[in-house]
Amino acid sequence: MPEPRRVAIVTGSTSGIGLGIAAALAAEDMDIVLNGFGDAGQIERVRAGLATDHGVRVAYDAADMAKPDQVRGMVAAATRGMGRVDVLVNNAGIQHTASVHEFPVERWDAILAINLSAVFHATAAVLPQMIGRNWGRIVNIASTHGLVASVNKVAYVAAKHGVVGLTKVVALETAATGVTCNAICPGYVLTPLVQKQVDDLAARERLDPAAARARFLGDKHPSGQFATPEQIGALAAFLCSEDAAQMRGATLAVDGGWTAQ
Ligand code: NAD
Repeated sequence: MPEPRRVAIVTGSTSGIGLGIAAALAAEDMDIVLNGFGDAGQIERVRAGLATDHGVRVAYDAADMAKPDQVRGMVAAATRGMGRVDVLVNNAGIQHTASVHEFPVERWDAILAINLSAVFHATAAVLPQMIGRNWGRIVNIASTHGLVASVNKVAYVAAKHGVVGLTKVVALETAATGVTCNAICPGYVLTPLVQKQVDDLAARERLDPAAARARFLGDKHPSGQFATPEQIGALAAFLCSEDAAQMRGATLAVDGGWTAQ
């Protein structure tokens, strides 16, 4: 019997980087489980479009990554509904900016829950079946902020450094198996998450949109350009390939030169 098509869960894939990754994995002939928030009609258009464009099965799970039971429930539902989970991309994430002493406790808790704890819960839920079949790919979308810090991002930087550490532990615990775990560390990608920060900067400093984008990239991206969801998707697809079988616990920067400085 031919091997069934591989099944990939991509958390936070209703927009931005997650959607770019879902499209790249569908193009590699994987069945996809989308997850994330948004307008129901728009999500259904994305789901149906991916299925039609790539001739794969595409499901949607509305699980809230802030809720451990729902994170684990998403893995269980995907396993029941799609038959298996071979690839897990932990991508869902949120941001909030404020200095440490003014940082709202509720935002700290939410960022740690969604950006870090959900990665633990989804990984723990999916690992037994991956190890059982001796094949799996876990790709964590960390950030440049998993490697270096910036002011006013205490929760995000702490969570993303946590994701990098978690990635290494999972890679070591699975090192003798066909399961790999790696982290992608994007610099700035112009998604809704970053657009909000650019808009805030434009309002604060009375800049037009182009000037605000240039100022935002500033000295962070020596390339002067944003990375794109398509570029992150292509790297995630490579990490899911056989050629990447000996990439284990890597942290891969896609940051316009930010961390080369
Ligand atoms: P985005 O805001 O465009 O997308 C975030 C996705 O997560 C959306 O689908 C949203 O619905 C979903 N989401 C948010 N809260 C959720 C929850 N509680 N449960 C389930 N889904 C939820 O953001 P993005 O820029 O595409 O970010 C995706 C990931 O990439 C995040 O982990 C982010 O930290 C990381 N990242 C982004 C950048 C950047 O420059 N945009 C840079 C480095 C890392």
